Amino acid sequence: MSESQRSGAGGQSRLIWNALWGEYTAQSPARMARREGSDDCSFCADLTSGRVPENARVWIRPNDFPALLPPDGECYILMYSREHDRRFSQLDLEETLDVVRLWQEIYERLAPRYPVVMTWETSGAEIGQTQRHPHGQTYGLSVVPELLRREMDALRLAKEQGLLCPFCRSVAEESDGPRMVYDGAAWMGFVPGWARYPYQVQIVARRHVSAVTGFAGDGAEARELAAFLPRLIRALDRVVEGAMPYMLALHQLADPTFHFHIELLPVGRAPGKLKLAASSEMAWGFWLNDSLPEEKAAELRRLLDEGD
Ligand SMILES: [Zn+2]
Ligand SMILES: [Zn+2]
Repeated sequence: MSESQRSGAGGQSRLIWNALWGEYTAQSPARMARREGSDDCSFCADLTSGRVPENARVWIRPNDFPALLPPDGECYILMYSREHDRRFSQLDLEETLDVVRLWQEIYERLAPRYPVVMTWETSGAEIGQTQRHPHGQTYGLSVVPELLRREMDALRLAKEQGLLCPFCRSVAEESDGPRMVYDGAAWMGFVPGWARYPYQVQIVARRHVSAVTGFAGDGAEARELAAFLPRLIRALDRVVEGAMPYMLALHQLADPTFHFHIELLPVGRAPGKLKLAASSEMAWGFWLNDSLPEEKAAELRRLLDEGD
């Protein structure tokens, strides 16, 4: 097998290196068969079949339609609640803390075996959420995805030049600035100056830790994050006067040079209107944002203050 093509167990998945664009693509034809729009919830079935202990509020299960198989990767589903009709943003503080600890648990499980642990949530049928039951996903990945590689390159370059880590610099520069959305004791949230989506928020740990396991699951940092994230998503809901479709992605690496952060990518731009990656974004990787980050940050600060 050539270096540019690797296959997971039984050839049911493969990773292809695209030398032209400098990125990997995963191919997994078995995923074509996955459930879409079905009324049967396989996650609720976990509960009725007794696969999940009765006292478990959150749990980790295998992805029934994995995009990758070992040694290329492993795919898991993180169950955020026993209740089918909840959303992540509706969880209370203790329930959200359970989810943060789930992010830590799956990282600890996969990081010894894979260089990258991708944990994220896709919320909203508009952007491909096929199962309504509140859940996130994690891939242990044997290669470094393009955006993480670019971030790591920027961090290494800053280090070589004797400069501050770019995320530590953002924490210092965005604090109290016009793009700031949340200025907490342990976390900062701001609309990046280069935001691709109008309401994009980057949530950065004030302390330079490289992964979600860099803070204690029962400590003040975890509690602050668990209190803030659902509040922020509810503020985004008010932007679209409904459920904001979004992706929430944990960017982390075992490398101590890396700086843990969460990319919150809301796809709505106004009630009933979406900002989807389309012509120039898909065909050229050239993003157009129809708004100014400073104005959107001011709007989000106002919506957060209004509370719920
Ligand atoms: Zn369900
Ligand atoms: Zn840093």
